[in-house]
Amino acid sequence: MAEPTPTPAGASPSAAADEGLVITCQCGGVRLRTPNATPLGICHCHCTECRRQSASAFGTSVYWAPTEGFYPLDPALTAPGGPIGTITRPADSGNTMYCYFCRGCGVRLLHAATLPDGSIRPTVSVKGGAIEDPDGVLDWASAKHIFVRSAVIPLSPTWETYDTTIAAGPRHVPTKE
Ligand SMILES: [Zn+2]
Ligand SMILES: [Zn+2]
Repeated sequence: MAEPTPTPAGASPSAAADEGLVITCQCGGVRLRTPNATPLGICHCHCTECRRQSASAFGTSVYWAPTEGFYPLDPALTAPGGPIGTITRPADSGNTMYCYFCRGCGVRLLHAATLPDGSIRPTVSVKGGAIEDPDGVLDWASAKHIFVRSAVIPLSPTWETYDTTIAAGPRHVPTKE
């Protein structure tokens, strides 16, 4: 058995978490790991699809690139009898969405997509509430609110908001001190 590795002096919790954050579900039957602790971005989406999918006021997506060892998922996980089920649906963009959920408890874990040419979309969306972040390394304050045109909750003036997509431009960007 290997000796436990001593923590280097001055190591921060974020450095320790750089091997990634655990993605898990309500029953704990699935445990995946993000590629690192630094996502490409965080969005709260208020669209009707996300509201239905999350059965809540909005859906939260935390984005990483589909890197080796993270996505595509190990085929054993999604094979018949494996812990992860897959829902496939066409998106308005022409992409095909792959939505992954725990077969034990039904919790949605991540969404990926292929573009019309069959290539993998360069972002994989991990459902925010499924990420374990005991050291608080995720920068939730930087989250953008998208599709606020269909929001059912009051919008704070401290939020960066978009009527629809980010590409379509912001509705409101708070002024920084
Ligand atoms: Zn589960
Ligand atoms: Zn949405």
